[in-house]
Amino acid sequence: MKRSSFTKVCQAIHDLQKPIVADLHLHSTYSDGELTPAELVQLALLKGVEVISITDHDSIEGIRALQIAGQITGQMNAGVQIVAGVEISCYLEGESYHLLGYFFDPENDELQKTLMRLRKARWERGQAIIEALKSMKIELVLPTHWSEERISLGRPHLAKILLEQKVVRSIHEAFSRFFFRDPINRIPKAQITVEEAIGLLKQAKGLSSLAHPSKRMIESQLPRLSQMGLDAVEVWYPATTARGKESLLQQANDLGLALTGGSDLHQREKALETIGSCGLSRRYLDQLGIRSGSLYH
Ligand SMILES: [Zn+2]
Ligand SMILES: [Zn+2]
Repeated sequence: MKRSSFTKVCQAIHDLQKPIVADLHLHSTYSDGELTPAELVQLALLKGVEVISITDHDSIEGIRALQIAGQITGQMNAGVQIVAGVEISCYLEGESYHLLGYFFDPENDELQKTLMRLRKARWERGQAIIEALKSMKIELVLPTHWSEERISLGRPHLAKILLEQKVVRSIHEAFSRFFFRDPINRIPKAQITVEEAIGLLKQAKGLSSLAHPSKRMIESQLPRLSQMGLDAVEVWYPATTARGKESLLQQANDLGLALTGGSDLHQREKALETIGSCGLSRRYLDQLGIRSGSLYH
């Protein structure tokens, strides 16, 4: 390792202790989160998190709702800055990846159309799961105000309804008893490739970051993803160990990747403790902002 590179990694490790100013991984009611986008903004304000990004699964409708409410992406909103965000489900060699997108233009036509197509596929998959449950004599009814345009439907939604209907005693049980088993586990997911997702974000003038990478992804796929045009990797994540962070920092530095981080908040319970508990310090937020070439400062 070159000395300058070594210094950079040491600096990054030291910086792990610095205060968090940005939480760039939050889910709202537009995917499987329990809080509305406006509630997330309020929460960030209460906690003193300066910058947030709402990264719903295959949906930017939450950000667009904030835009309509006058809380424009990238601009200051009552002390909280909002960076456009999304978490796209995609695949590489049959393995499932989550790709975070930031700083893109939410009005980008291609991005909106592709995400709409993915949400439609999620909705159809949800209907197929409901049908499969019906054949097991389990009636699952979706709330009437949900629609494929608005909700990025996922299995956690369905698990929650099964829990509410007292069919299962926990979300975990819904997965182990039904979703991970035949025939439901054979219902295919409609996804795009990692390369397509990176390209999709790029043409919308956004950055891509590999979300919560597994050890295997880091060791064997990161250089390849970097060649595909990946911009960053999510280093600060609740489940990432200290050793995992160090190895990620090292790899990201070698490949010239930027760093991102966030709490992956979904639940209302303990939301105030969770928001901003994981994320970026000022230095890395600035580096990301510069890399995006956005007006963010
Ligand atoms: Zn994810
Ligand atoms: Zn997430």
